[in-house]
Amino acid sequence: MNADVLVVGAGLAGLHTATLLARRGHDVLLADRRSRLDGAIRTTGIFVRKTLDDFPLPAEHLGPPIRRMVLYPPGLDRPVVLDSDRDEYRVGDMGPLYAAAARTAAAAGVRIALGTRHVGRDDGGWLLAGPDGPVRVRARFVVGADGARSRVARDLGLDRNTELLVGAEEVVAVPGVDGPPAFSCVLDPSLAPGYLAWVVNDGRHAHVGVAGYADRFPDGLRRALARFRASAPGLAGVALPDEVERRGGPIPVGGLLRRIAGPDGLLVGDAAGAVSPLTAGGLDPCLRLSEHAADVLDDALRTGRADALAAYDGAALRASFRGRLALRRGLAQVRTPAMATAAFALLRTPPGRAAARRILFGDRSFPDAVRPVPAPLAV
Ligand SMILES: Cc1cc2nc3c(=O)[nH]c(=O)nc-3n(C[C@H](O)[C@H](O)[C@H](O)COP(=O)(O)OP(=O)(O)OC[C@H]3O[C@@H](n4cnc5c(N)ncnc54)[C@H](O)[C@@H]3O)c2cc1C
Repeated sequence: MNADVLVVGAGLAGLHTATLLARRGHDVLLADRRSRLDGAIRTTGIFVRKTLDDFPLPAEHLGPPIRRMVLYPPGLDRPVVLDSDRDEYRVGDMGPLYAAAARTAAAAGVRIALGTRHVGRDDGGWLLAGPDGPVRVRARFVVGADGARSRVARDLGLDRNTELLVGAEEVVAVPGVDGPPAFSCVLDPSLAPGYLAWVVNDGRHAHVGVAGYADRFPDGLRRALARFRASAPGLAGVALPDEVERRGGPIPVGGLLRRIAGPDGLLVGDAAGAVSPLTAGGLDPCLRLSEHAADVLDDALRTGRADALAAYDGAALRASFRGRLALRRGLAQVRTPAMATAAFALLRTPPGRAAARRILFGDRSFPDAVRPVPAPLAV
């Protein structure tokens, strides 16, 4: 098979990059190992206000707006409640949202190969294993959109994520919400070492999850989730059935990687480490970085200039992560419930609350240097 660009991975980053390139007239093949894009979902799907403002996501696949954030210390005593006067978050109905993005990609001319895994490269091209057997693809460029443990990054000789959290959550449909829709987080390293446990309840779905450094869960990720589920706040009146949708996966939190492009291709989304190291939010970064990637690839394909991909420089963009990397290191140091309780004493002060509001309701997004194009987009 031939293509101008082979995109490996049809998460939000791969779908968006592929669509933008196809809309500019390039021949794009998008391969994903999953046989359906609305299954095996690996994200809660919380979109922040900045994304909702800048990208026209389909409203029918977004839950009700959330304006309330509730932060709990270990023991769940005296939570800090932060209310915004703006709509801050909406949770995507991710199965239909991925399916809609795939339809948009196909309508733009992207050839989508599902059930098709990238297995390596040789001199003659990129090797895929599909439902009908092996395929060799010759493409001018390959885009690694294959997630946090990117195989394409390895095959391109680019940087790879080394600092990862693992997260798991359960999702249930709920009949409504008692009070305003809320996003509750618990800072307790015995449940979520180095990160947070969360309940997002927007009145349509409740997501109950934990994430942290894999080697620091006292009794493993699954048991931590089971413990949290038994006492999770923000679920008043919600009965969690035994049969729930389970999601989970790795989350890179080491910041954007430095070398994310080489002569034969580049990385987007989690593969590039494009996740906020502090909040672990990756949906906004993956959309923004995909726009930058599509611009650079379009330029490279049109001009044929060998150095065009040099403009896709993770080291330069990484500078905007400095503050968040420092805060990540701080969060990673909260190793005991006593330390988390002490951190809450700071959070309860006016400067502490103001700092939390800036992080949770702020206008910053990632990477600040990458501006979205004002055109309608992939999803
Ligand atoms: C539990 C959890 C909750 C999260 N919640 C949020 C949230 O609420 N908000 C937020 O902003 N961020 C969240 N994140 C982070 C966010 O989901 C990711 O940053 C984002 O989805 C990354 O998109 P992506 O397209 O780069 O990667 P992915 O969505 O991981 O897509 C990668 C794709 O590549 C495919 N693939 C992998 N290897 C191969 C191969 N060899 N061949 C072919 N295909 C391959 C996979 O099947 C997959 O479809 C969460 C992450 C986790 C783990």
